Amino acid sequence: MAVKKTGKRGATQRMLEAWRSYGNGRAGSGNKKAAETLRQPSGYEEVLLDGVLRGRGWRQKADGALFASAVASMAESLRVLRFARGIKAGKVLYSLCARSGEYRNPLLGLPDFFGNAGYPRMRYERNGRSFAVRMQSQQASVGANIHAFEAGLVSGFLGIAEGRPVLLSESACSANGSEYCVFEEAPARGSTVEPDDLSEWLLRLLQEGAPRSSWGINSYYSNLIWETALHSMYSAEIRGIVHYYGDLLGRITRRDNRKPEKELGRMLDSLALGRMRVEGKASFHVIFDAVSMRRRFTDISLAFASGFLGGNLQVSEQSGGYSISILQ
Ligand SMILES: [Zn+2]
Repeated sequence: MAVKKTGKRGATQRMLEAWRSYGNGRAGSGNKKAAETLRQPSGYEEVLLDGVLRGRGWRQKADGALFASAVASMAESLRVLRFARGIKAGKVLYSLCARSGEYRNPLLGLPDFFGNAGYPRMRYERNGRSFAVRMQSQQASVGANIHAFEAGLVSGFLGIAEGRPVLLSESACSANGSEYCVFEEAPARGSTVEPDDLSEWLLRLLQEGAPRSSWGINSYYSNLIWETALHSMYSAEIRGIVHYYGDLLGRITRRDNRKPEKELGRMLDSLALGRMRVEGKASFHVIFDAVSMRRRFTDISLAFASGFLGGNLQVSEQSGGYSISILQ
């Protein structure tokens, strides 16, 4: 693979600025309480967390979030990283809930957050001082407990609420044969299992498309999931895994005489890796929304496209997306 890029970036900055002007607009609408409580999020992660909490973003198929979670669970180091990122996110989320003025008890913000993210019916269970959390999630088996980020998020959130370290791990997972994901203050039973090969699941997605009943996930939450996978130390590995699956699916597409550009567009859309428009023979345009137009995220998308198309790509940045040409 060789991906050559041109153009400059700054989408995150543009997105933060857009968010700030939106916040200022609301604060200036005469609602004094809103003016007091709408403090500006200070970073990308906070913008995403706040966006989910307030129900911004739109529903997309849960396949992208499942793919991101499974890819980022492929090694113990990645699971540890995602758990740690989750703890940090949980602390930030708690402070957002506590200062929003909407909750007399900030604990109530967490079910709201997961509900808006696309994980309904989250509930706390207390056993003495111990917590357990149960929630519904997308149902597709990948053979492992993959919600390390969510385990960290719940832990960080409850840790601040309780004023003591709370460390929950996922003892049952909807991606691993359970109806619910269950997070408990107990050693994890399934977290050391690496996910099955995703090929079979992706192949079904390629051939049949996502089932209609597929869960909806908030697009901000989907970006948050990818965010946890894009740590600079691991992004090369993640790109490698994603490229591998792209390559595999591209080969199958060509073997079955399907149209690669059509199937690639469908896969990118299903996996929430961007929307693609065909511009001509061997020439495409992949569009990202402002939130996902970040270098490491778009690199993931390009790694998938490059694997899928199986050629050298010329890539240039253009208004909210990339133009991709296959070099012969
Ligand atoms: Zn789970």
